[in-house]
Amino acid sequence: MKEIYQKLRSLTGKSYGLYKSLAQKTWKFGDFELEFLHVQGDPYAPPSRLKFRIPLSALGFSPELANNAVKRLALADFLLRRLAEEITAQSVGVDFPISIANPGQEILTRNSLWVGGPSENEGVAIVEATLWVKLPGDHRMVDVPNACDILTSILPDTLSTSLYCFGEGAIESARRHIESLEVRTELLAALEMAKLVAFVPDGAILPRASGISELPLASAVSFKSPPEMRVTLKACGREITGMGIPKGITVIAGGAYHGKSTLLSALEKAVYPHIPGDGREWIVVDSTAVRICDEGGRSVRNTRIAPLVRELPSGISTENFSTLSASGSTSEASNLLEAIEFGAHTVLIDEDTSAVNFLIRDPRMQKLVGASREPLIPLIDRARELTSLGLNIVLVAGACGDYLNVADTVIVMNQYQPEWATHRAKEICASEPPHRLPEDHPPFIQGLSRSLLAYVEELLPHVRPTSPVERQVKVRVQGGRLQIGFVEAEIGPIPQFCDSAQRYGAGLIVLNLLQNAVDKPSLECIEKIYAQIANVGFRKIPQGMNRDVALPRPAEIAMTLLRLRNY
Ligand code: ADP
Ligand code: MG
Repeated sequence: MKEIYQKLRSLTGKSYGLYKSLAQKTWKFGDFELEFLHVQGDPYAPPSRLKFRIPLSALGFSPELANNAVKRLALADFLLRRLAEEITAQSVGVDFPISIANPGQEILTRNSLWVGGPSENEGVAIVEATLWVKLPGDHRMVDVPNACDILTSILPDTLSTSLYCFGEGAIESARRHIESLEVRTELLAALEMAKLVAFVPDGAILPRASGISELPLASAVSFKSPPEMRVTLKACGREITGMGIPKGITVIAGGAYHGKSTLLSALEKAVYPHIPGDGREWIVVDSTAVRICDEGGRSVRNTRIAPLVRELPSGISTENFSTLSASGSTSEASNLLEAIEFGAHTVLIDEDTSAVNFLIRDPRMQKLVGASREPLIPLIDRARELTSLGLNIVLVAGACGDYLNVADTVIVMNQYQPEWATHRAKEICASEPPHRLPEDHPPFIQGLSRSLLAYVEELLPHVRPTSPVERQVKVRVQGGRLQIGFVEAEIGPIPQFCDSAQRYGAGLIVLNLLQNAVDKPSLECIEKIYAQIANVGFRKIPQGMNRDVALPRPAEIAMTLLRLRNY
């Protein structure tokens, strides 16, 4: 601390730009090591980026709390939340100079707080916290008294209050956080063993506080599994009972406002772990599950949509379909076929957010338009075929009764509670045969014609800095729009992104894939870089240190890649 104090004193009367000299070395900062990753150019510029490193043992946590990757992820999330809470508490009503990423309900690999394993760090677990600090200026000069106050008093106090393990309370909460993630991890393994697509434990809280808050709804009716679908999974010595959704086609039916979409959304979000107390922390779903929606207006590049769309007007190819603005049904067909190509074994579809003609075609329309003039093969005609190829479908249908004919399992949501209705649905289907005219479709052939290498080579010339003063290609995320040099993608509509840190993470990884595209950016390349970051954090992608970054799934990285277009 003394060293940095003396350095700051030496900047008395110096111009603000000399703060940059702080970035020349690593500072000893009590038990921490401090590194300035970025120093702002003037007092009004975005804040500076500071990284603190400390051995886990120096914080008072036992090494046993970080001896595997699951524990380290949970502990990092726990520490980040403590630090973020402390900073928020101190920021009330004042212009507080320190800020850090504020995580939502999911537990994600983030660069804001990383717990590194002993193997990569000479035998000791390391904690790295990266935060934003506004360096104070006195007009165009360094404001030395305030800088000393922030760096040698406020910062050390904030870090020590939140990161050091004081008392039994802190250890207990850390253990609870870690155990919750361990249970979830074992539940996921048990889900696979039991050959289920998803599991919702009894007592789970599914609805959220509001459309703009991911917190649990206070007055929620807690989940109770129907006896016919009840299963018990073992995890960390516990027996947890709940509803198991089997493989195949599952239809979630029910009246309006009875909780159908809420159940599907909970499954969709369960691809990520949630914090204890969220209500969804032990819901698990096939980790490759992808939510498929109507995404009218999306850009599609060389996707083979022929299995769902025969030929389009004016001879537009569906073997190699490209458009800057897809229609509702063609966007949804592209979303489904791309998800399958990039490894999804389960798709989640809600009538509310689907193109109707993508889902069904009723007999009157069949007669009026005629099969020869209708390019679309509705999903209902492909559903069984897709299931026989290994795809599971969970579909919310309040109106499309045709799906009852192809369903393996039918759930009816009634007053926010699920009822098993497979038997009743089968009886109804048997007594009321479908009125649809049979249509003759060529068999579903998987695999896209697109060469991803050609795709990348087409984009590469546009992956260059957007202005002459920039040395590197910058990745920007504004709302739902991602920009990588002169290449951009509308990624806001991708449903399973959690926050902008994750969108930014996807952008960085895609840039990395494009720039290192020695081989075609196949699913394996994406999975490789994903596994690497999950293992060692974002340090191999240094550009990421200057932003709050979180790791998305391989599926979201692929979806980002497939939406790129140059401008
Ligand atoms: P549906 O898709 O069946 O029309 P939604 O899932 O959109 O219905 O739910 C309708 C409303 O009911 C939403 O405001 C949701 O938050 C609320 N809701 C859903 N599940 C529950 C529950 N278990 N307890 C209390 N409210 C719930
Ligand atoms: Mg709904």
